[in-house]
Amino acid sequence: MDNRDYKKCDHGLVIVYTGNGKGKTTAALGLCIRGAGHGNKISIIQFIKSNWPYGELEGLKRLEPEVKIKTLGAGCIGLPGDNKPIEEHQAAAQKAYLRSLEVIEKNEDDTVVLDEINTAIGLELITVDELMRLLDKRPAKMNLVLTGRDAPKELIDRADLVTEMKEIKHPFQDGYLGKKGIDY
Ligand code: ATP
Ligand code: MG
Repeated sequence: MDNRDYKKCDHGLVIVYTGNGKGKTTAALGLCIRGAGHGNKISIIQFIKSNWPYGELEGLKRLEPEVKIKTLGAGCIGLPGDNKPIEEHQAAAQKAYLRSLEVIEKNEDDTVVLDEINTAIGLELITVDELMRLLDKRPAKMNLVLTGRDAPKELIDRADLVTEMKEIKHPFQDGYLGKKGIDY
């Protein structure tokens, strides 16, 4: 610590977890556990992700009703097994976007997590202008956590806290599939 006069932070924070390394979504979920321990109300809205048995979906049920999660994506684009037309991904992203706007404007939560929203922007499923509108509507006391690779510069400029996960090693490089309880 230096001798500056540090102050208590009473306003909400815009927090971004980005980069190619693993840990963005799990960092956001970690904040939810921490907030829940203080009785905070939290909404998580997932872009891109669809019907995969992510452990957090069951795990977070233990934190209901304070913590709520809604998965509104249509799955990863371009991976083997994705045979959906782009319109379906666009419609899913639009639905997740409108839900995010609604949750933010309702102002009932201490923290709102928009998981994989950066990925949705990178895939041009939602626009940077739409993202800016979400930030504009954020009540001053609400924390907004945004995850996903390739966070746009406009978001980084407006955020209070940005962490870039950097890949040093991952079992995927050695040919391992995602591991239950670690990757999903
Ligand atoms: P996590 O959900 O594990 O915190 P993440 O949010 O940082 O990962 P995403 O890009 O959302 O990363 O990852 C999608 C999936 O790929 C997850 O199952 C994740 O665990 C896995 N993953 C993340 N980073 C890597 C990586 N560098 N190499 C291989 N797989 C990864
Ligand atoms: Mg993620």
